[in-house]
Amino acid sequence: MTAQIINGKEIAEKKKVQIAEEVKLLKAKGVTPGLAVILVGNNHASRTYVSNKQKTCEELGMYSLLIELPEETPEVELLSKIEELNGDSKIHGILVQLPLPEHIDEKKVIETITPAKDVDGFHPINIGRMMAGQNAFLPCTPFGIMVLLEESGISISGKNAVVVGRSNIVGKPVGQLLLNQNATVTYCHSRTKDLAVHTSQADILIAAVGIPNFIRAEHVKEGAVVIDVGINRNDEGKLCGDVAFNEVREKAGYITPVPKGVGPMTITMLMYNTLKSAKETLR
Ligand code: NAD
Repeated sequence: MTAQIINGKEIAEKKKVQIAEEVKLLKAKGVTPGLAVILVGNNHASRTYVSNKQKTCEELGMYSLLIELPEETPEVELLSKIEELNGDSKIHGILVQLPLPEHIDEKKVIETITPAKDVDGFHPINIGRMMAGQNAFLPCTPFGIMVLLEESGISISGKNAVVVGRSNIVGKPVGQLLLNQNATVTYCHSRTKDLAVHTSQADILIAAVGIPNFIRAEHVKEGAVVIDVGINRNDEGKLCGDVAFNEVREKAGYITPVPKGVGPMTITMLMYNTLKSAKETLR
């Protein structure tokens, strides 16, 4: 079997067109969705991510505000900037680009963002609401994975889903979202014994590990849906995922490539969440 490729870039583009249309409608009602991004320090990768977020905002007709703070910014100053944005009616989403410099407590920062503008979905209130299946901002990468599955017509209810990785931003929440849609979910992680015993039971296999080509054909059940979240560089410096794409595609039913798989969905769902937040101000 050769897997059908799930084209994340195409699905993201389609979603962005829908978002842009909704932004237009909202603007006609006097509300322009606004996203504030705070960048502390000079991390090169963070700068690239932030500039992509700004570009996408502008492309979709949203207001984007970039706040750049020097590396040595005291924590209290960052927190007061967030408080100011919490009260700013032009801003519907607040995102603090991670990682932060060591002297700043990430947890405190996340908890200072009002849950109503937490478009990253990292605030414990949004995490709790997500777990309870209530209205919440869903974290963007897991949310993007769910949209990829939906847009590809893949049913989830009753399926065995195995998530490899248990980070707070990807592994744990994607497992929860799959559970919310009635999958039977298994989490695997760095202490899991006999990984292949678990992964080979998966109808839906999510790889969020951060190790190039970690998931091999032997880990995958014939016909499985394989979602590769990894963004890694291989020995030649080329971008690659956590899944050994060439061998796994011969066994899987569906597979996401890297690049053009999960990656483009993350930023798209950030825009979706910002729009959702802006729409909620009209209620
Ligand atoms: P992380 O480092 O926080 O977590 C990695 C997880 O992998 C851990 O839970 C760990 O237990 C597990 N793990 C490590 N070694 C393992 C092993 N030998 N067997 C089984 N599990 C093992 O990483 P993260 O933030 O969840 O990111 C994972 C990958 O996804 C990275 O490559 C990251 O760059 C990528 N990522 C992509 C996007 C996107 O938009 N596409 C977003 C976030 C993260």
